[in-house]
Amino acid sequence: MTTGRSSDDNLFIFRLTKRLFHSDCRITDAFYENFVKMHYYPHMRLLLVEDEIDIQNFLRVSLQEAGYQVDVAADGKTAERLALENPFDILIVDLGLPDQDGISLILKLHQIGVRAPVLILSARRSVDDRVRGLEQGGDDYLTKPFALAELLARLRNLLKRNSPAANEATRLRVLDLELDLLRREASRGGDILQLTQQEFVLLEYLCRNAGRVVTRSMILDKVWGMRIQPDTNVVDVHIYRLRGKVDGKGQQPLIRTLRGVGYVLKDR
Ligand code: CA
Repeated sequence: MTTGRSSDDNLFIFRLTKRLFHSDCRITDAFYENFVKMHYYPHMRLLLVEDEIDIQNFLRVSLQEAGYQVDVAADGKTAERLALENPFDILIVDLGLPDQDGISLILKLHQIGVRAPVLILSARRSVDDRVRGLEQGGDDYLTKPFALAELLARLRNLLKRNSPAANEATRLRVLDLELDLLRREASRGGDILQLTQQEFVLLEYLCRNAGRVVTRSMILDKVWGMRIQPDTNVVDVHIYRLRGKVDGKGQQPLIRTLRGVGYVLKDR
């Protein structure tokens, strides 16, 4: 990681390196790969939620040059749709969006199971705003105007913190049920299960608590992030659908209902 170098320097070096690499000049693969490894996170998929067109364009181009695959949303509704349809590695969210507040967008994204780290980028500079942003789902907070180099450094840190190496497990296994947390893919006995995002999050929660009873309100709290609404049947509906997919015909049923108490995922 470079220090004391401006973003313009970094971009200049990157462009120069690219040009050298793609021209006849002899530059070793190892040098290029090492450079990219040190400075860029290629193939990382990023969702940029920003309605100011100048900032949006500037960031899109800069982030693409830094190796990110960038999707852009100019409002919360589009961001929700994109986040539901695509597995993003990281998000940048502006707080002042035309159709909703960035904080409520982040909360909604969490509710639909988005676990990628979120960098809030906002003109709101007060301590209260920053604390609120960090407490309500932002993993980092950067105020506008910002330096590109700082933004890139913060993204790298968030990705590092959330990288597989930093986390203990990327797979969960309970009997013949397996969850790949990186691909967000579940399989039973080697057969892929077609789960919605929300069903996957629910199954992940059950797996993490395999062999233990989890109550409806625990599930509501951890999976949906809602305060307890005892009359809601959202948990029962999702468990019913999940059971239909996980416990297929002829297989040992794994999801058990304890009437009036909750559920348990069998681990033996
Ligand atoms: Ca804005």
